[in-house]
Order: sequence, then structure tokens, then C-alpha cells
Amino acid sequence: MKEVVWWSIYEIGHRLTDKFDDVPEGEVATRAPRVMLAGDACHTHSPKAGQGMNVSMGDTFNLGWKLISVLTGRADPGLLHSYSSERRAAAKGLVEFDHQWARVVGGLAGDDGVDGLPRVAREFVANLPFTCGLTIRYEPGALTGGTAYQHLAKGFDIGKRLHSAPVVRLADARPMQLGHCIEADARWRLFVFAPADDAGGAGGAVAALCEWLEHDPASPLRRHTAPGEDVDAVIDTRAVFQQDLRALDFAAMPTLLRPHVGRYGLCDYEKIFCADVKRGHDIFELRGIVRDAGCILIVRPDQYVGHVLPLAARAELGPASPPSCACAADPPAQRRY
Ligand SMILES: Cc1cc2nc3c(=O)[nH]c(=O)nc-3n(C[C@H](O)[C@H](O)[C@H](O)COP(=O)(O)OP(=O)(O)OC[C@H]3O[C@@H](n4cnc5c(N)ncnc54)[C@H](O)[C@@H]3O)c2cc1C
Repeated sequence: MKEVVWWSIYEIGHRLTDKFDDVPEGEVATRAPRVMLAGDACHTHSPKAGQGMNVSMGDTFNLGWKLISVLTGRADPGLLHSYSSERRAAAKGLVEFDHQWARVVGGLAGDDGVDGLPRVAREFVANLPFTCGLTIRYEPGALTGGTAYQHLAKGFDIGKRLHSAPVVRLADARPMQLGHCIEADARWRLFVFAPADDAGGAGGAVAALCEWLEHDPASPLRRHTAPGEDVDAVIDTRAVFQQDLRALDFAAMPTLLRPHVGRYGLCDYEKIFCADVKRGHDIFELRGIVRDAGCILIVRPDQYVGHVLPLAARAELGPASPPSCACAADPPAQRRY
């Protein structure tokens, strides 16, 4: 360094707003948010963990699909309350983490542990799940299920970001990450993990579930998809099988998994996958999916795990009880927003 042409002092402030929207706690039941804050406008801390921008983008990814859902009439404006509650908790975790981390970075040298690593290096490694954004867990509520069926897929933590794993796409034998089939398009995803003896044919649990999803009036696909819309316009159903791809017959799969969609009504070949057993990356093994039973994995539009359910679940996917937020139950003419 020959010359310092400019310098400045960056003053670190640990700050967190009470709410990320304009509705005080006492008014949550009576009106929906109209102004939302995101990023450094509502949480600041030191840049040491390199998380400010990451968490800020997490804010807007959380908010984006909710705004789209409300503005297109798919969801009630009461949904917007969940933005502040979910993201403020995430930001609070970050500010608290930053307090600890600042003390580690600013601590005295020479505190090597038994592994010979300096404390900073040791803590950096230990904190990797946090800095990769994998530790945020949304609380159970209208958007995130409870843990009653978590044992069916222990590696897909309900309330946490989807932890992707390798699969092979059936139609073209392409090895890929399952998470890469999810686009940021505000759609919900319903992944069906098939039991070991189920190849998708008639009479199996996968076929029965797909039949119910596609045709039963209680199915969320039927209830939330408008007439004339593609069957996957709101909820995108995909399936993962345990068999090698040569043991599966695409043409015998339920029609929901090979729908004709889009402007030209072309067959979508990209919804069926199998475990990548050949390369030793078996998603059923990697994510602790119970092989005999399989499961349903619901992924929210922001790619957080919404729920894990048994393949026989119908009531859990059926119509919900009336929303607890009074503003959501108001007839539109009486709403204050
Ligand atoms: C030194 C340093 C290193 C960092 N390193 C990392 C890192 O490695 N990884 C990471 O994830 N994050 C990092 N961050 C944090 C990251 O930069 C911020 O968290 C992120 O930029 C916040 O984005 P934002 O859009 O919320 O706010 P900002 O990026 O601050 O954007 C706000 C914008 O609003 C504009 N503005 C303000 N007032 C007005 C007004 N009245 N009218 C119009 N425009 C206005 C500002 O000019 C600014 O362009 C670092 C921060 C610092 C300071």
C-alpha cells in the first residue's frame, strides 16, 4: 500500500425495528399491512459475518411471493402479516449472532483449541450453517406445519430452507439437483416421495394421491386453480421414485405428473425423478425419507419447507379452518385496506 487516498470510519450500529410493517401489534387483527420495510432499513449490524445483503434478500424473497399472491387475488391480505413476524425473528437471530461474532473476532489471539485452530477459524467453521442461511426456522403457523410427521423425512426440516439433494430426471436421464427444478415463480411445490414398491402405476399410493389432487373438489389444486388455468399454475406437483429409471414407465405415470400445459398444451416431461442410486447419491438415504412409507413434501414459494405429510394425507391438504385473523374473515367491502 503506497498511499491511502481516502479513508472513512464505518460506525457499526446494532439496530432492529419493532415491526417490519406499519401495523402495530394491537391492530394486527383489524387491518393488513400497507407499508413494508426490508433490508438495512429495519436491521443493521456489523459486516463481519457477511450476512447483511444475504438476509436482506431473504426479506424480499419472503415478501415477494406474498405480495404477488395478494395482488393477484390468490391470497387474503392477512397473509402479509406473516412477513414481519417471520423476517423480524430471522433478523433478530442475525443481530444476536453478530454480537457474539464481533466478540470472537475482536478477542485476544493465542486461544488455540485442542484442534490447533485459532478460535476465529474454529468458530467460523462451526457457524457455516448460519452463514449459509440454513439455520433460519419459521415457526409453525398458517404457512408452516407442525412436526407430527417430521419423522417421515428427517432431512427436510419443517420451517427451514429446502435442503436439496441429487436426483435423476426420468424423461431424459439427466442427473440434477431436485431444488433446481424450483423456479422463483410464486408457485407452491408438492413433492411426492414414493414408497419402495410403488412405481407410479394404477393402484399405488402415488397414483391414488395424484388422482385425488387432480380431481377431488376438496383437493387444494382444484380449490386454488381457476378454470382454464394450467393444472400446475398454483401448485406444482412432482414425484421422486426409489427405482432405477429403467424400472419406471413414463407413460404409465399419473396424468398429473405429465400434464399438458402452457400456450401450446405440450406435455411437461420434467416432473418425475428417481433416486441417483448409481452415483451413490440416494435422496431417500440422504434426507432420511422412510422408504416403506414415502411422504409428501410441501415447499413454500420462497423454498422453505412448509410441511411433511404421509402419502395418505387428505384432510391435512383439504380446506383449512377459517383464518384466525379477523381482518382476513371480513367481507371485502368492510375491509379497511
Ligand atoms: C463494509 C461492508 C461490508 C459488507 N459486506 C457484506 C457481505 O460480505 N455480505 C453481505 O451479505 N452483506 C454485506 N454488507 C451488508 C450489505 O451491504 C447491506 O446489508 C445491504 O447493502 C443492504 O441493502 P439495502 O438495499 O437494504 O440497503 P442499501 O444497500 O443501503 O440501499 C439503500 C439505498 O437507498 C438510498 N437512499 C437512502 N436514502 C434515500 C432517499 N431519501 N431517497 C432515495 N434513495 C435513498 C441509498 O443511497 C442506497 O442506495 C456489508 C456492508 C458493509 C458496510
